Amino acid sequence: MEYMPEFRLCAPASVDEAVGLAAADAGARYLSGGTDLVVNVRRGIERPAALIDLSAIGELKDIDEDDGGLRLGAGVVLRDLAENETLRRDFAAVAEAALAVAGPTHREYATLGGNLCLDTRCLFYNQSEWWRGANDYCLKKEGETCHVAPKGSFCFAAFSGDVAPALLVSGAEVELAGPEGRRRIPLAELYNDDGMDHLALKAGELVAAVHLPGAVAGVPSAYAKARVRGSIDFPLAGAAVALAMKGGGVEDLRVGLTAVGPRPFLVEDTERFADAPLDGAALDDLREMVRAQAQPMRTTTVAPWYRRRVAGNLARRLAAGLAAASP
Ligand SMILES: Cc1cc2nc3c(=O)[nH]c(=O)nc-3n(C[C@H](O)[C@H](O)[C@H](O)COP(=O)(O)OP(=O)(O)OC[C@H]3O[C@@H](n4cnc5c(N)ncnc54)[C@H](O)[C@@H]3O)c2cc1C
Ligand code: SF4
Repeated sequence: MEYMPEFRLCAPASVDEAVGLAAADAGARYLSGGTDLVVNVRRGIERPAALIDLSAIGELKDIDEDDGGLRLGAGVVLRDLAENETLRRDFAAVAEAALAVAGPTHREYATLGGNLCLDTRCLFYNQSEWWRGANDYCLKKEGETCHVAPKGSFCFAAFSGDVAPALLVSGAEVELAGPEGRRRIPLAELYNDDGMDHLALKAGELVAAVHLPGAVAGVPSAYAKARVRGSIDFPLAGAAVALAMKGGGVEDLRVGLTAVGPRPFLVEDTERFADAPLDGAALDDLREMVRAQAQPMRTTTVAPWYRRRVAGNLARRLAAGLAAASP
């Protein structure tokens, strides 16, 4: 780790003030809990001219009821998400995913907004300055070659946030604030399929809140991840499942994945399970579908084939559990 470099620290009191500061300085970065960004600064990966600390902005810390659903401020810390009774009851996967992030001390500081916007990860990137320098850096930062796929010009660094797939299966939208005002988009549209440029935020934009729709409240859902160290680790693969059953058949099945590509995403074509029971054959089919759509690359010490297989197993296990528990 490097010493902390020089930077200006700004502490705005409102979203508008924060956005104004970002608009005035292209080298500035938003800072929430700092559990991702500060590590990258200490590794020399990030060299911001200024950090805009969002932690004093009251608006970002609220959890409010919102038309039968919930509005979660981006500055809510993951401990509070994991413990929120309404969330645990109505959007269980989101609370479970928040609880699965890092360790308890991280969750005291780590925020929802930071979790959605954390940098993509790769074995050849999340290293100290001297390690990366000794390996001629890489395409994502300061180098010319991708060590994962040397003949290509694409970065496969994996988005490895736990909460996004759970929000995706819950139909979440994100509220963004920027120099041009506020806008609201489906969470899936926040992400690009590109490890070097994975966020579709406009210059100076921040995530102000996440909206969970009332129509999905109460649909049974769950999250699970595979990781090297059970007590504290990024997902090697993570899956969220939401399952509504009606009359013994599937009414709605959604599967969200993380850590198996540069963006979190909803598995396509799950509509084909509609109206039929989720029996053993259907669950096997779901597992294979997930494996086919997960595309992990050699970005962790654990082999891609294992992460693909485990993603399918996680989704199958969660779906089987939700189906068994449905009335
Ligand atoms: C040892 C260790 C283990 C970890 N394990 C996990 C894990 O298991 N799962 C996991 O998901 N993460 C893990 N993390 C990463 C990190 O702790 C979490 O993702 C955390 O939620 C990040 O939130 P933060 O508030 O600390 O973000 P910060 O570090 O403050 O910010 C992260 C990024 O998001 C941007 N940002 C922050 N807030 C906003 C906003 N409101 N709008 C726009 N951009 C914003 C920042 O500019 C920065 O680029 C781990 C980190 C460590 C050090
Ligand atoms: S996938 Fe390639 S370009 Fe991207 S961080 Fe890893 S080595 Fe670098």
